[in-house]
Amino acid sequence: MQANDKIYIAGHRGMVGSAIKRRLEKAGFTNFLTATSGELDLRDQAAVAALFEKEKPAYVFLAAAKVGGIMANNTYRAEFLYDNLMIQNNVIHHAYLNGVKKLLFLGSSCIYPKLAPQPLKEEYLLTGILEPTNEPYAIAKIAGIKLCDAYRSQYGCNFISVMPTNLYGPNDNYDLQKSHVLPALLRKFHDAHINKEPEVVVWGTGTPLREFLHADDMADACYFLMQEYNEQGFVNIGVGEDISIADLAKLIQDIVGYKGTLRFDTTKPDGTPRKLMDVSKLHQLGWKASIALKEGITQVYHNKFG
Ligand code: GDP
Repeated sequence: MQANDKIYIAGHRGMVGSAIKRRLEKAGFTNFLTATSGELDLRDQAAVAALFEKEKPAYVFLAAAKVGGIMANNTYRAEFLYDNLMIQNNVIHHAYLNGVKKLLFLGSSCIYPKLAPQPLKEEYLLTGILEPTNEPYAIAKIAGIKLCDAYRSQYGCNFISVMPTNLYGPNDNYDLQKSHVLPALLRKFHDAHINKEPEVVVWGTGTPLREFLHADDMADACYFLMQEYNEQGFVNIGVGEDISIADLAKLIQDIVGYKGTLRFDTTKPDGTPRKLMDVSKLHQLGWKASIALKEGITQVYHNKFG
């Protein structure tokens, strides 16, 4: 990528898209193509075709998607499948038709089978049944990986995919019904602290294990792979360490300074028991995460609620 190449960041207002834009700006890139969802509905094939024909971007970061936590995924099952398939089909296909030099597609660790061995190696894809709460989202993301691979093998397109673990950072979603666990717990503990409430409710048993990567680390890895990785298949992006939901809750309680108690609501789903990424491929390529979890959460907490 050269500093004046036109770079389309689909989803530039989202947590990952905005972090990628910040990372590229830091590296000196200035020629961005962006469109808000109000200006461009990425599910609309004709609109996406018109954008690519008019703007002819050289590089594409496909960070636009319908995303959410366990409840949102399980409730809006139709939209998580339909919207994501439409968005990625339109962007990937028109990137091919318009000669995009390289495209990076963002997947998710939920593509792996629910009971796959841990840590999750890239080769475990499609070796078992998926976690039911986010199966529609996972099916869409698997289709996106396969679409990138198919355009590479049939047409020689340099389209790559990356599979991030659970992400957190600036511009996250804090809606308690739709968000992921980390922003949800930040909001719950903060509100309980301010309002002096006696307890905070944590969904599920607290035993599931999750890995968390800061969006700025994610963006740095995407920028790195956009330059260094040009192959079939995809690359996991994570830190290689996980934490139980109960310990995450205690860490956030500590950061917020909340003195009340925790209650686990076991009527809410746990989701997949564990999804720790194997990041040896990424490490071998030469990239490692640098933001420690406590430091990252503290920074996000003070920026959002401080
Ligand atoms: P997942 O990684 O796809 O399962 O999605 P989430 O980030 O939404 O949930 C991760 C785990 O955190 C699940 O076991 C949830 O039950 C648990 N959890 C605990 N409290 C909360 C909460 O307030 N919101 C969310 N979204 N998850 C929670």
